[in-house]
Amino acid sequence: MFTDFMPCIICGKKPVIELQQGALCKAHFMRYFEKKVYKTIRKYELIEKGDMLCVACSGGKDSLTALYLVNKLAKKRGQKIFALSIDEGVEGYRDKQLEDMQNFCKKSGIDFVIVSFEDEFGYTIEEMMKIVRKKKLEISQCALCGILRRKLLNGYAKKFGATKIVVGHNLDDEAQTFLMNIFKGGIELAARMGPVTGAVRHRGFVPRVKPLYFCTEAETAMFTKLLGIKVLYKRCPYRQFSYRAYVDGHLQEMEKNYKGTKSSIIQNLLKILPLLKKQYSAEKIPECRCCGEPGRHDVCAACEILNELGI
Ligand code: SF4
Ligand code: ZN
Repeated sequence: MFTDFMPCIICGKKPVIELQQGALCKAHFMRYFEKKVYKTIRKYELIEKGDMLCVACSGGKDSLTALYLVNKLAKKRGQKIFALSIDEGVEGYRDKQLEDMQNFCKKSGIDFVIVSFEDEFGYTIEEMMKIVRKKKLEISQCALCGILRRKLLNGYAKKFGATKIVVGHNLDDEAQTFLMNIFKGGIELAARMGPVTGAVRHRGFVPRVKPLYFCTEAETAMFTKLLGIKVLYKRCPYRQFSYRAYVDGHLQEMEKNYKGTKSSIIQNLLKILPLLKKQYSAEKIPECRCCGEPGRHDVCAACEILNELGI
């Protein structure tokens, strides 16, 4: 925790946050955060001239921060941008976030599209889970939700002509994902990580880019708060049962005892990423027999699970 005895390292004013390099006041922290995000966009060429941007928004702090900063840049450059939300149907949670999104987009003049599981598949995620339990299928709510959400996101981004999907993944998310892939998912999945997703380019995939790649969860939360964006800080009630939450818990504990752990994971990931991408770049991406979308197998994960559910 910082105190008034640790003033901003630049101007000596009252600090709002303490970073590894020292404490920063409101104005200097906001400048530091924006600069870091725009530097990431420039360095990794996340947004190029002529890109049509789809910002994937849950309505939480990360996606709204990404939307705010990318929209600012897009306006300056005259680039097209729209926000896309997937409503899984988690009652008392997603509906509130979508309300915040509506208000934010209206105020900022951003086109906003909502696609729901219910309209697309005929069931909300909670209704689908009832079928999962009834059929005794082995899939967790978050795994099912993630697979279907990614499918809709890619499909609708493509449908509206987007050339990039901007996501609000921050440094904490990326460190968790890397560990999850090492522990469980497989190293070939880690090859798809980095500020731009994917080891192989495929015309069916809209590349996903992460401008908040080097921003921690705490930094993003502080930036959103200082900006005064109305946002629900509560997490989805199902997250606590996920493998991600388990890994996150351990990672937070390590960060507390060994400061800089998360950042070190990302720095090391970035060192081996070119090798991983090279190793897996020759992989062929099959097109799904059912929906024609690219996936890992002949039938994509989404169609496979929808078939099992009988949807
Ligand atoms: Fe879906 Fe799980 Fe995320 Fe909730 S926490 S929105 S159920 S993936
Ligand atoms: Zn499919």
